[in-house]
Amino acid sequence: MKRLDALRQEVLEANLALKEKNLIISTWGNVSVYDAESGVMIIKASGVPYDSMGLDDMVAVDRDGQVIDSAKRPSSDTPTHLYLYRHFAGEGVRSIVHTHSQYATIWAQSCLPLPCYGTTHADYFHGPVPCTRQMSDEEIRERYEENTGKVIVEALAHTNPIHTSAVLVASHGPFTWGKNPADAVFHAEVLEYVAKMGLYNRLLTPGIESAKESLSDKHYFRKFGPGAYYGQP
Ligand SMILES: [Zn+2]
Repeated sequence: MKRLDALRQEVLEANLALKEKNLIISTWGNVSVYDAESGVMIIKASGVPYDSMGLDDMVAVDRDGQVIDSAKRPSSDTPTHLYLYRHFAGEGVRSIVHTHSQYATIWAQSCLPLPCYGTTHADYFHGPVPCTRQMSDEEIRERYEENTGKVIVEALAHTNPIHTSAVLVASHGPFTWGKNPADAVFHAEVLEYVAKMGLYNRLLTPGIESAKESLSDKHYFRKFGPGAYYGQP
C-alpha cells in the first residue's frame, strides 16, 4: 500500500531524528505512526541499532498487535503505543515517541510532574507535563506494557492530549506524541529542553512556583487556540 510505504518512511526518518537530536543512545526509544483509516500502526522493530536501521525495520501491526508483513518482531513497547492510540487517536494523535532522554527521565525517575516554569514550556505544552502514578506489582507482572499505556491515559484523564502532548512515566521515562512523526519528535526535543531548564530552576530557586496561569494560557493559546495569532497564517 502506497500510503503505508510513505508512513514507513516517515517513521524511519523520525527514529533516525531521535538519534541525531541526542534524545537516545543504543537501541533505546521508538517512534510509531498510526493510520486511522486502516487501523494499522507502524513501529520500529525490537532492539535494532540506529546505525543500520532501514525501512525493513519498520514493522506494521494491526489493532491487536499482530504483525502484518514482516519477519521482524515489533518494539516491545507496542502494546503501550496501541493502548494510547485506542484512547487518543480520536483526538487527532497520529504518532507517538518514547525515549529515555536524560533530563526528562530524571523528572520521571523522581516521580515528579514537570511544572510550567516559563513561556518556553507554555509555548508548546499547556500546563504541567503530568507524571503517572506508580504501577502496582500486579500491573508490572502481568501485561506490563499495556498497563504502561493505562497509567498514561489515567494521568491525562482531565487533559486534552493534543494540548498536553507529553507525559512522564514514573520511574521510567517520557512519552510524547503529535499529529505526525516529526511533530511527536519535536515534542520530545522540547520536553527535554524544558526538563533541563526546570531542573536548574529548582536548584537555583528551591520552592519555585509555576509561571502564572494567565501567562502560560496566553502563550499556549496565542499559538494553538482557536484565536491563535502567532506566526504566519
Ligand atoms: Zn522505556
